[in-house]
Amino acid sequence: MVGSHLSSNANPDGVSAEASNDSPYRGTLEELDSLCVEGKVKEAVEVLNLLEKLRIPVDLPRYLLLMRQCGETKSLTEAKIVHRHAIQHLSPLKVSSYNKILEMYLECGSVDDALSIFNNMPERNLTTWDTMITHLAKNGMLGDIDEGMLHFESMSKDYGIVPSMAHFVRVVDMIGSIGHLDEAFEFIEKMPMEPSADIWETLMNLCRVHGNTGLGDRCAELVEQLDPSRVNDQSKAGLVPPKASDLTKEGEKKKLASKNLLEVRSRVHEYRAGDTSHPENDKIYALLRGLKAQMKEAGYIPETKFVLHDIDQEGKEEALLAHSERLAVAYGLLSSSARSPIRVIKNLRVCGDCHTALKIISKLVGRELIIRDAKRFHHFKDGLCSCRDYW
Ligand SMILES: [Zn+2]
Ligand SMILES: [Zn+2]
Repeated sequence: MVGSHLSSNANPDGVSAEASNDSPYRGTLEELDSLCVEGKVKEAVEVLNLLEKLRIPVDLPRYLLLMRQCGETKSLTEAKIVHRHAIQHLSPLKVSSYNKILEMYLECGSVDDALSIFNNMPERNLTTWDTMITHLAKNGMLGDIDEGMLHFESMSKDYGIVPSMAHFVRVVDMIGSIGHLDEAFEFIEKMPMEPSADIWETLMNLCRVHGNTGLGDRCAELVEQLDPSRVNDQSKAGLVPPKASDLTKEGEKKKLASKNLLEVRSRVHEYRAGDTSHPENDKIYALLRGLKAQMKEAGYIPETKFVLHDIDQEGKEEALLAHSERLAVAYGLLSSSARSPIRVIKNLRVCGDCHTALKIISKLVGRELIIRDAKRFHHFKDGLCSCRDYW
């Protein structure tokens, strides 16, 4: 029916009325835009189908927005429809658009669809490779690192794309930062080229953060062989080097109710719950998220009753990560010597979930954590606390 109307050039309003018979939508770009903004992907794709029937062209920015929404909501069915539309109506696509489709499939968790895009792209650039590698490493984060590495290998073997040393550093960083240090080491050993001092230094620092001093020392030896200038007394002692940016922002301190003091090599950092102002903020949160996966494997169940906000489970777990004592401990792990205890002073009482979390963290990273809260000292060591859970 719609088709015959169109071929006889019926006025667009008449066609819209026809289309609305089996859909609550009229099929306008305004509908598409507002559904996209609201994140209603299913409905937006329904409107996209209507627009196609009505032969109303949809421009590239709208497609790109839809792709992002499909990825963010992990809507694979809708992603495939958007992909088909884009190919049909926007061809020939530029490599940047293919990269977005690739990213959408990877976000949706479909490595097969992503690889098929990757395989059939007329052209690939560095972003293509970056997108692929970043997401495959992230997929590994979900517990399937072997598969991720397999794709990584086949990408370089079968598709003839040779990753740069910087790419390898990133993969090592991503595998290692979630605590899979042995896998990161295996990955380095399988590299098709001689690993650089950067690679070993990256793994060395991760080993120190995660408490694997044996492997950390081995990496330190390799760094020293490759580039003796990188190794000094501090790094020999197992210190992760501070970033220059860390020192410049040192003066920015906030005086707010609930803060922690952490002394690191005579520098004092203050933390509030939910603090994101620290210059090493990204690293701190990445470490806490990485630790969370290992903690759950070790039996940790986040006690979200300690979070008062009315948010979903994932949001609550995220809120617990942001408790100031955890931020302080994470920063301590990143910036103190591998074998030294970490001291944190908190001016409120430590909450029950942090208490459980810190016990497990002390075991995972093999470090002594000493927290002085408003009431007493807690010495966390090897999975236990000196207060025997009475405080
Ligand atoms: Zn807490
Ligand atoms: Zn305790």
